[in-house]
Amino acid sequence: MPSTHLRFNSNLGAKKPENIINREVACPFCDRSQLSDILDEDGPIILLMNKYPVLEDAFQTVLIETDDCNAELSEYPKEHLYRLMRFGLRHWFRLQETGTYASVLFFKNHGPYSGGTIRHPHMQIVGLKNVDYHQALDVTYVHGLEIANKSGVTLNVSTHPRVGFFEFNVLFHGMENVETMADFVQVATHYTLNHFHRLCQSYNLFFYTLPSDMRSHEFGGRSYAVKVVPRFVTSPLYIGYSIPQVSDRIETVVNDMQQRYFS
Ligand SMILES: [Zn+2]
Repeated sequence: MPSTHLRFNSNLGAKKPENIINREVACPFCDRSQLSDILDEDGPIILLMNKYPVLEDAFQTVLIETDDCNAELSEYPKEHLYRLMRFGLRHWFRLQETGTYASVLFFKNHGPYSGGTIRHPHMQIVGLKNVDYHQALDVTYVHGLEIANKSGVTLNVSTHPRVGFFEFNVLFHGMENVETMADFVQVATHYTLNHFHRLCQSYNLFFYTLPSDMRSHEFGGRSYAVKVVPRFVTSPLYIGYSIPQVSDRIETVVNDMQQRYFS
């Protein structure tokens, strides 16, 4: 039977620093002289081993996005945004190609409701030895109303969100579309943090490799998706009953985003 639950080391988890809420806690990613187990660097972008590997049977890395503690992906200059996405994708692909892992996660937490603990902009690339996230991936999770489409890359808002109420999806072919993919991710994060109908300070990014049976006609053979999820307190209907919800405002959001970013 495939593993469904990841074991979490709670003792180690309790030692992790937190400075999203406790802003007086020193940032471990700013003091670069103290960083160890660095795997790769590209200017201010650094990939290193996670100092608090709380997950069992996992290869846990942290991708520090910038040397500016207060920067945010939604505001990066294009040149830096593209450099970061190229670097992240390259390492995510590389870890998948080793064949050592059942699946490789690539994600970002931003803000107090995102599940993150360090404010400094960073992402995580995590190889799971026994858990394959594709088991719980359904093709409908990336279905949506189209907001934009350029160079074979699509940005949509979910009609069947995994959790709710709004989830944005960027579908792309791979490294050759990286700039458009990055532009669309930036638009979705910028909209989330600045123009959402409710004040929103938190989001997650989740990258997925789409299994071959999901690369159907309607996705034009595209192999990858990024989900941008604005985060609020999680709905009790989802926690208790696994019932996802979809907002009746998604058409309004499509029109609003098209006017703000694509007209
Ligand atoms: Zn910092």
